[in-house]
Amino acid sequence: MESIRRILRSGGNSAQDEARPESARAEALLHEFENSEKGWFWETTREGMLSYISDSVAGVLGREPGDLLERPFTDLISTETADGSATSERTLGFYLSSHVAFQDLIVRAKTRNEIWWSITGRPIHDEVGRFFGFRGFASDLTKMRQSEVELDRLAKQDSLTGLANREALRRALDDALVGAVRRKHRCSVFLLDLDRFKAVNDTLGHPAGDTLLRLVSLRLREVIGEAGQVGRLGGDEFEVVLPAISHHEELSNLAQGIIDSLSRPYTINGTAVSIGASVGIVTSDYDDRTSDDLMRDADLALYAAKAAGKGCFRFFAPEMHEAARERQRLESDLRVAIEKDQLKLMFQPCVDSSSEAVTGFEALIRWFHPEHGPISPVQFIPLAEEIALINEIGEWVLRTACAEAATWPEHITVAVNLSPVQFKLHSLPATVRAVLGETNLPAKRLELEITEGVFLSNDDHVHDMIASLKKIGVKLALDDFGTGYSSLSYLQRVPFDKIKIDQSFVRGASDPESRNAALIRAMVGLASDLKMETTAEGVETADELQLVRNLGCSLVQGYIFGKPMPAEDALALAAKGAIVRPDAHLTPREPRMRIIRATLLHHEGRVLGARLRNISSGGALVECREEMPVGAQVQLDFAAGGLIDAEIRWTKGTQFGVQFREKFNLKLLRPTEPTAKPPTMMMPNFLAAGGGEAESK
Ligand code: C2E
Ligand code: MG
Ligand code: MG
Repeated sequence: MESIRRILRSGGNSAQDEARPESARAEALLHEFENSEKGWFWETTREGMLSYISDSVAGVLGREPGDLLERPFTDLISTETADGSATSERTLGFYLSSHVAFQDLIVRAKTRNEIWWSITGRPIHDEVGRFFGFRGFASDLTKMRQSEVELDRLAKQDSLTGLANREALRRALDDALVGAVRRKHRCSVFLLDLDRFKAVNDTLGHPAGDTLLRLVSLRLREVIGEAGQVGRLGGDEFEVVLPAISHHEELSNLAQGIIDSLSRPYTINGTAVSIGASVGIVTSDYDDRTSDDLMRDADLALYAAKAAGKGCFRFFAPEMHEAARERQRLESDLRVAIEKDQLKLMFQPCVDSSSEAVTGFEALIRWFHPEHGPISPVQFIPLAEEIALINEIGEWVLRTACAEAATWPEHITVAVNLSPVQFKLHSLPATVRAVLGETNLPAKRLELEITEGVFLSNDDHVHDMIASLKKIGVKLALDDFGTGYSSLSYLQRVPFDKIKIDQSFVRGASDPESRNAALIRAMVGLASDLKMETTAEGVETADELQLVRNLGCSLVQGYIFGKPMPAEDALALAAKGAIVRPDAHLTPREPRMRIIRATLLHHEGRVLGARLRNISSGGALVECREEMPVGAQVQLDFAAGGLIDAEIRWTKGTQFGVQFREKFNLKLLRPTEPTAKPPTMMMPNFLAAGGGEAESK
């Protein structure tokens, strides 16, 4: 350093360089270093004024080199230190004034841009030991510090949303727990899961899904504000750490605020998107639960919120542990249910709406648990999907249903429900082919029922899968239509053979206040344009039957024609010629009478003998030797009330259903006296003479 200093003082020249090659080399090295921008040299007087500083510093500080000289070195240094405290100036000042050597002192330059230096210096003394000033060097730490800060930030941040990540949330919760104990209060955690996010992601693609997650995080931040730390754990799972909130009501309001905010529609690439959110809430107690314990409890609370129908929040309750253990027991029981022969298939008839003939059966699984009794598929199918047992169960259903169907008359089909999880399996077409081969069931008699969720995926796999299944020759039905995301365009893209209108539309559709009838009409119209059949699901009452029939649904499935039944009963029903009667007494508002009574039918000037089989105030089932056209306007003469105008709505051979133009008062029907004369005109001999036993149901 001393030789450098001497060169600096003398300014240096080439003649001297030649004379003093050592000094010349030192000077060259000095310039080399100073120009590299890796560091710089400095020197102060005994008063701490700069007597030398490399030119590069002036450049960095945006000043002229001469400006810096003869000014206090500490003027260049900010008071902020690396850890954010304000002691640096004193520290550098302290060293300079106490004449103590220092090394790697990290300081921030007094500039608008962030510039960090590491400064080393030692006091210099003259020959007789008098303090002369300081001399030293400094290196630039700016880039290194920036990348450290960036790394630190990245390590704590979720890169997609900019929210805290799992690690940062864990630290925040640890801190909140420590703070809660120290300040004798309690902290809380929200665990959040978005409802229907996956479907949006699948429908609109991953970039749209990412945008949605960003929008969700903005709304979450807005709702939570300063009350806590919001973070994303991954996927569509978010967490909020609330260090100082524990009141039940306050937490409820906040959770409801989140649900309301996240449930408002979003617009992504011009498309309106709606999702929901479920929230699990846990509050720390004055106990020694760790952040892991709290998160596990929050997870159980979230599970309970989702099980309660989603779009709601639930507080953790200790009983949830028992429920989770119960679920685990069910899981392990389910694993052996097939082996132990506890799974059974029931078959529900599907009926042609105009002929009332059975066209097929839907196979519906039941689990007869030795302790818990029958368990609904609605409960255990999702469980089987979660624990990856659905493929095994699904294959068992397929094999059993096809084997059963092979014993039915040839025109009767079997429908099998497929889980979306099964649909993802590349081996599905091969399995279907193998099962059809084994059971000898023609492919066209197997109908695979898929829910909307499966088809919302943009995934090529879905379209390949459909093509492969269609190639086998099986039929495809879209189950629970109208309950999913109802992007109707996929109906045009996917060659379904049938859509099954969900029972939630059928329920109450006959109520004049309900808009369901209009919705069913629209669905039937759409399906028939696309040459697809329509099944109305869950038809229970005669009203509903009449309505879905009028609206043009080609098939009906519901309790009115039969509940899911054991295989033996299905076989008997299938073999019996497969005509079933709607169970009329299920009509809630309109009583229907089962009646066997002779009547006269007026049609286009002719009078024919006919027989009433059952009747309601809206219409009747009539039997006549002649076949009648649908839509024919007729008059019936069977009661004291005179001729009744009616229209033939459907026919099946010699039976047909008529709809009365005006409501018929059933009270007018009194049992005919046994002595009453039978009608004299054209009494067809297949009709029971004088028949008049009215059977009110
Ligand atoms: P789904 O495929 O829509 O089946 C129709 C459900 O509605 C059946 O319930 C059936 O019993 C019920 N249902 C039929 N008619 C009526 C009615 O008139 N009134 C009322 N209230 N309900 C009626 P289930 O058997 O409990 O099955 C529920 C769901 O479980 C099925 O809905 C299907 O999604 C699923 N599932 C059933 N079996 C299987 C299976 O083997 N595999 C798969 N992956 N899912 C299945
Ligand atoms: Mg189904
Ligand atoms: Mg359904």
